Amino acid sequence: MRLKSKGKTGSMEQTACLQLAARMASLEPSATLAMAARAGAMKAAGVDVIDLSVGEPDFPTPPHICRAGEAAIAAGKTKYTPAAGIPALREAVAADYSRRSGLAVTAAQVTVSNGAKHSLHNLFTTLINEGDEVIVPTPYWVSYAELIKLAGGRPVLVETAIEEDFKLQPAAFEAAITPQTRMLLLCSPSNPTGVVYTRAELEAIADIAIKADLAVISDEIYDQLVFDGRESVSFPTLRPGLEARSIVVAGVSKTYSMTGWRIGWTISPAPLAKAMGSLQSQETSNPCSVSQHAAIEALTGPQDCVAQMRDAFQVRRDLVVERLRQMPGVKIPDIGGAFYAFFDIRDALSRAGGPDTSVAWCEQLLEKEQVATVAGSAFGAEGFVRMSFAASAEKLQAGLERIARFLG
Ligand code: PMP
Ligand code: GLU
Repeated sequence: MRLKSKGKTGSMEQTACLQLAARMASLEPSATLAMAARAGAMKAAGVDVIDLSVGEPDFPTPPHICRAGEAAIAAGKTKYTPAAGIPALREAVAADYSRRSGLAVTAAQVTVSNGAKHSLHNLFTTLINEGDEVIVPTPYWVSYAELIKLAGGRPVLVETAIEEDFKLQPAAFEAAITPQTRMLLLCSPSNPTGVVYTRAELEAIADIAIKADLAVISDEIYDQLVFDGRESVSFPTLRPGLEARSIVVAGVSKTYSMTGWRIGWTISPAPLAKAMGSLQSQETSNPCSVSQHAAIEALTGPQDCVAQMRDAFQVRRDLVVERLRQMPGVKIPDIGGAFYAFFDIRDALSRAGGPDTSVAWCEQLLEKEQVATVAGSAFGAEGFVRMSFAASAEKLQAGLERIARFLG
């Protein structure tokens, strides 16, 4: 038997022996990357698209970091490295985290991977047994649910409300816990909402996790992108002993504008770090050697670039919040970090004759006004839209005017 596909290039036929595995049946491609690819294709075709879809800093990687990558190539550091990362990078991650969080961790607790997305995949593969439940507050970052399912787990989505700044409420968390629950996955500052939990809010969540004997994965990849002098509290620091059940996920992609270099990491108890190192040794051998050397420079070199980019994002946050608030019916939460505005379009969707889902709304916005955004449904929150404000002020202003016109 031969299966046919309607594409235009390459071999469009494959025999049934290439039937995809069952685990692929429910796998959704990343909606953020899909929208970015679509906007990119339109741009390449000469369309004046304003792409506010993907969450990627628009600044170049700072020059001193690029130079460290070039120097690594020139010095021949182009061979396999230890699977869990070069010792100097693991030490730099441990030192940077210890200094900023106040919690002393060692290099043995650090596993460097090909981006934080890969770190999450490692974690789920290493920890999840078939049917284990992972509590994920919605809206959540697109890849969480898919990666949990891929590992055989069950994402248990717990809704949060814009009125509560999309923060997981302790009672809702507690109510979602079953005998199958293994862990909670938190993200603060949040992608897609930009909200930042306070210390007291996190403490309430930590106490429930301890009582229910759950692990907590804390995605802190935006921890240095917080505005108005807010603090971004690292989860394992909240209570004594919490580090024995917590894993921090982070990386260089957002803080140092290094998305393409693909370096992320976890900070976990050492036995788990060792297991993830073993997994990586079979899966990818090691993260890119050149990128690891650049990441060492990112962590140990001058840090002014971090504050400069953060301040630029804060100015853009102000611009975006002010303009969105002027739009009739549009609501947004308190954006304290990261570079996303997750806004409420339920009012627009309820109007007769217009788009009635967030996907349709984003499609029509792209078609009519050439602005690329991502539908809330991709983040488990229908009725909302995510726009990234990692774009120049000019682009943001123009994009917001187009959105305002589209909303009427
Ligand atoms: N977590 C969150 C919340 C993110 O927004 C991203 C961005 N893609 C990642 C993890 C993964 O980052 P990366 O793989 O680029 O290190
Ligand atoms: N985290 C970014 C986003 O949400 C990058 C895209 C991705 O990795 O999915 O847009």
